Amino acid sequence: MRTAEIREAYLSFFEEKGHLRLPSFSLVPENDPSLLFTSAGMAPLKPYFLGERPIFGGKEWRRVTTCQECLRVGDIENVGRTARHNTYFEMLGNFSFGDYFKKEAILWAWEFLTERLRLDPNRLWVTVFQDDDEAYAIWRDLVGVPEERIGRFGEEENYWPGGAITHGPNGPSGPCSEIFYDRGPEFGTPDETGPNTGSGDRFVEVWNLVFTQYDRQGPIPGPGILKPLPQKNIDTGMGLYRMAAILQGVEDFYRTDTFFPLIEEVVRLSGRPYEGKASVPHRVIADHIRAVVAALSDGVTFSNTGRGYVVRRLLRRALRYGYLLGLSEPFLHRLAPLVAELLGDFYPEMREHLEATVRQVRLEEERFLETLEGGLKRLETLLSGLKPGEVLPGKEAFRLYDTYGFPLDLTVEIAAERGFGVDTEGFQKAMAEQQERSRAHMAFEREIFKRSAEALEELYAERGATEFLGYTTLEGEGEVLLLLAGDQALSEAGPGTEVQVVLDRTPFYAEGGGQIGDFGLLEWTGGRARVETVHKTEKGLFLHRAKVEEGVLRVGEKVRAVVDPKRRDTERHHTATHLLHAALRAVLGPHVRQAGSLVAPDRLRFDFTHPEALTPEELERIELLVNRWIMADFPVTWRYLPLEEARREGAMALFGEKYGEVVRVVTVEGSPSKELCGGTHVRRTGEIGAFLIAREEAVSAGVRRIEAVAGEAALRFARGALNRLKALSERLEVGEAALEERLEKLMAELKAKEKEVQSLRARLVRAELREGVALKEKGGLRYGGAELPGLDGSALRQAADDLVARGADVALVLSGGQAVLKLSERARERGLEAGALFRALAERAGGRGGGKGALAQGAGLDPEKALKALEDLL
Ligand code: ATP
Ligand code: MG
Repeated sequence: MRTAEIREAYLSFFEEKGHLRLPSFSLVPENDPSLLFTSAGMAPLKPYFLGERPIFGGKEWRRVTTCQECLRVGDIENVGRTARHNTYFEMLGNFSFGDYFKKEAILWAWEFLTERLRLDPNRLWVTVFQDDDEAYAIWRDLVGVPEERIGRFGEEENYWPGGAITHGPNGPSGPCSEIFYDRGPEFGTPDETGPNTGSGDRFVEVWNLVFTQYDRQGPIPGPGILKPLPQKNIDTGMGLYRMAAILQGVEDFYRTDTFFPLIEEVVRLSGRPYEGKASVPHRVIADHIRAVVAALSDGVTFSNTGRGYVVRRLLRRALRYGYLLGLSEPFLHRLAPLVAELLGDFYPEMREHLEATVRQVRLEEERFLETLEGGLKRLETLLSGLKPGEVLPGKEAFRLYDTYGFPLDLTVEIAAERGFGVDTEGFQKAMAEQQERSRAHMAFEREIFKRSAEALEELYAERGATEFLGYTTLEGEGEVLLLLAGDQALSEAGPGTEVQVVLDRTPFYAEGGGQIGDFGLLEWTGGRARVETVHKTEKGLFLHRAKVEEGVLRVGEKVRAVVDPKRRDTERHHTATHLLHAALRAVLGPHVRQAGSLVAPDRLRFDFTHPEALTPEELERIELLVNRWIMADFPVTWRYLPLEEARREGAMALFGEKYGEVVRVVTVEGSPSKELCGGTHVRRTGEIGAFLIAREEAVSAGVRRIEAVAGEAALRFARGALNRLKALSERLEVGEAALEERLEKLMAELKAKEKEVQSLRARLVRAELREGVALKEKGGLRYGGAELPGLDGSALRQAADDLVARGADVALVLSGGQAVLKLSERARERGLEAGALFRALAERAGGRGGGKGALAQGAGLDPEKALKALEDLL
């Protein structure tokens, strides 16, 4: 069974069991900056587990099934080494929100595996949580699994979240039951006698059924108590690729249909054969490029923090393994189209963004390979200075790592090729020493040539995060704590210098939560710098990207920070975004979830989950609702609350925030809008002025995008549209009301004219044929041929007919790559056949085609050769 067939079989099986099929959600968890990537099928469905209901087709659903793309960075070290772990993989799942429970979940899983997929029941083993007698009994008595193949395990293996009873977290949790497939002793180690034993690949966990039935409460660490939940849920996860490997009878999933073409391409590029377990590099490359393409297609870009950093690491890791195979030129971008081809049917965003993906991957590869190149040269020099038997000093290996980003494993590998060892202990020691040094430097000094990352770290240790003043004001005083240019810390910056400025406090908003960074001015006695935008480090230091326009900016200077008043327009768009979100949910239903947003002074963009295009009526209702909330002039307030409390109050809560974390909740009093948000907002909705939707479109499967404008931007937008309308009606010289009618008429006229032109052209061709083509004779048959420009299929046939009408027995007419051959009655009587003659022509003049009886046609013939061949053939 092909992977796509297994996916479809699963989804349709659960559809038959009354589940709503939803598309895969994005790899990037919406609304949730703290959770890096979607790592399980249930993750995007959490709101439903907490009591919300998906509404589709006017119906409330309690059963959902999905195939979810997942990324687990935590499994990265396993990739290539085990035959069961990917970073990027797909998880099939069926979910019950307070509907069916253990019995159905177990019976259906069994039915699917043994009846739909036809797995041998004797090869299936199951495990349950040690205290879960209920699940045990279902497996033994209702399914009939022999007791020796049902294992009981503790909370680490068979409870979700793993170990939650003892270690927390609090909240929904429950026992799970896992299903394993026995691939046979040849895959295992001698000590592998059942699930969760040994270290081989014999017993593969294919499916995990989670029975969410308890609310874990109590101290952390525990012991906690388990209170039964009023709503019991089912959450299951089946690994698509693991299943594909089993059903396709291959040793590991790298040999299944959605992987092997990638492996083959690596083999082709590197000339190194694939040898299964022994070919870790092939596997890592195939795995990582899939993850990179998937993440980029969902909007992640390479960067030095967060998701972008994970993707960067994956790419570099794949490149390093490529290097080990002798691939020293950028090659990953050449694999990207293959990934899109293999997975694009189910994840259309991969095809849609392919061009940009390839470009980004190539740039990133080039950049990294350059560094690698420099390091290699250095390493060459070092190695050629070694005498046989010596090892590369750890200090040098560390310097390679520190200045060229040259990973230790690569150094070891290359040195080994030349017959040298590396003092890895020395490397670790040098690393530890450097960390020690930077710790000792804690007291912040204004060194020139200090590395910027280090400088930021020290500054944070000394002074903590930047204080943000911008919720209440656009102007404030601050002291310059740090000036960075490139990778250096400066003590001063003169006119024309571009620097990153860190202040102790600032009214400038740093890009985040979709809202763009502020721009404006820094002013001090005798000088001024223009701030283009502001970013924030993970720890909360604000970096003002600025250009000194006048005077010299020095560390220690007191500056006046003035945000450009356009920020007020940004605030209008930000509050409007919240209102839009609330209106979408009110009109379309609570399945709408934010999937990304951009808030700028001149527009807003909001991506959200919804399975289909919005109708014009829906868009109008949404727009109207937002404008009503604006006209109601509701106050906008914000508070800081512990996460749990915010959730309890029904704030559009996100997942992945840590328990007990304090979050900022922005509320539009009087409207349903309440969101966790760090952005800046208007004080009352009336300030927004007006709101207009400019466009609605698809982003990827199941995700829509709205672009809208607020405040003056909305007025400009409307004015622009009205002006265009007016200009149009002036050009067409009718009143605006009659524009459409006028357009219809013009189009009809155009069509009639086109027809006229066609028939005129045909007449012209006929005349040309009459004058221009002389008929020749051979063997008692008259024949004529011509190449004419600019004829379509029917004009070509007409021309051939004309030639025959003029007395030709064989007529051949060619135009723009097309060709038509026509025979007269007489020629037919003489035994000629159009199809055979045409094929004979095509054989000599290139091209293809055919026909029968009196008419044949085709394309791709070389006109000169064809006409010559006609003469020869008769
Ligand atoms: P394992 O113990 O094998 O790492 P897990 O307990 O982490 O698996 P779950 O979190 O229960 O797995 O995920 C549900 C299913 O998803 C698993 O039964 C497996 O089929 C699949 N799965 C989990 N992690 C991966 C991975 N890294 N690569 C491919 N499939 C995976
Ligand atoms: Mg795991």
